[in-house]
Amino acid sequence: MNNQLIVVCGAGGFIGGHLVADLLRQGYTRIRAVDIKPLQRWYQKFEGVENISADLQELDACRTATKGAFGVYNLAADMGGMGFIEKNKALCMMTVLINTHLLKAARENGVERFFYASSACVYAHDKQTDPNVTGLKEADAYPAMPEDGYGWEKLFSERMCRHYTEDFGLVTRVARYHNVYGPHGTYDGGREKAPAAICRKVIAAQMSGRNEIEIWGNGEQTRSFMFIDDCLRGSQAIMASNTITFPINLGSEEKVSINQLVDIVESIAGVQLKRNYNLSAPKGVNGRNSENTLIRQMLGWEPSIPLRTGMEKTYAWIYDQMKSGASKDAVVNCS
Ligand code: NAD
Repeated sequence: MNNQLIVVCGAGGFIGGHLVADLLRQGYTRIRAVDIKPLQRWYQKFEGVENISADLQELDACRTATKGAFGVYNLAADMGGMGFIEKNKALCMMTVLINTHLLKAARENGVERFFYASSACVYAHDKQTDPNVTGLKEADAYPAMPEDGYGWEKLFSERMCRHYTEDFGLVTRVARYHNVYGPHGTYDGGREKAPAAICRKVIAAQMSGRNEIEIWGNGEQTRSFMFIDDCLRGSQAIMASNTITFPINLGSEEKVSINQLVDIVESIAGVQLKRNYNLSAPKGVNGRNSENTLIRQMLGWEPSIPLRTGMEKTYAWIYDQMKSGASKDAVVNCS
């Protein structure tokens, strides 16, 4: 596949930028990277890649983006952490245009394989009311009652992939990501997710000398977090698989509470902060974890990078950004 054209949609964002880097590392020679942001605001941008700034909610842009492609990774979405998705439901749902138009264009252009980045937010609300949640199995998405806005868009787009396969023979692969984190992600501005937000808050508390941290909710809500390297490996394995023809969990099973996540970051930073709980802030469901039986069976692998290891790398990157005063939109140019 290394000489085939691979298109990464959402390449100016966190996961898309890392995927382009990983494809280059593996010797892929023809990569097209597409994102709505102007090129100077991409988180990572690489020479030797066809970098395009285009709005993939538009069908014509999707036609141009997928022309001549062998594989398409759809990682483009108007999204963010709980603070963003709880307040921007319509914007999140408008992302349905991206996947719908990409599928239509991919079919027209004879694309061989199509990957869609879904989310654990598709899972039914009543399965996530207890912090001691048992891991969410793939079947737990139905009967459907996903996260309002963002989750409905993801579930609908999953089904569009399924029906494009059933009705038109387009090979589609869908991964349900559980909280991905790592360097080169959003850490401020309102779209950041818990791991990056907590790193930023701990670093800011240290830098300012105000040894306090605000935590959204009571801190007892539980999640699992997947380091970016596991996400890249799993996404590409799912894309290449000939047997994973259904949406599958791609997440870590290492469940922690938000308080435990703060413990980890404090220990990396070597501080202990006074915790102020903001009970009216968006906090999402009470408990969510991945259940990996299926991916273990299908791939003989599952995400396994320990949270502490991934958080050390993430913390170090955010620390450097904040120390140097770099904007979150700073571009990393790589040859
Ligand atoms: P991100 O916000 O960093 O990247 C998404 C990119 O899509 C952004 O650069 C954005 O500019 C681009 N985009 C938005 N609208 C566009 C449009 N109309 N045309 C072209 N590009 C557009 O997010 P990410 O963390 O890299 O997430 C990638 C994918 O994975 C998304 O589909 C997201 O929903 C999914 N996902 C991510 C996580 C996570 O924890 N990061 C969890 C579950 C699912």
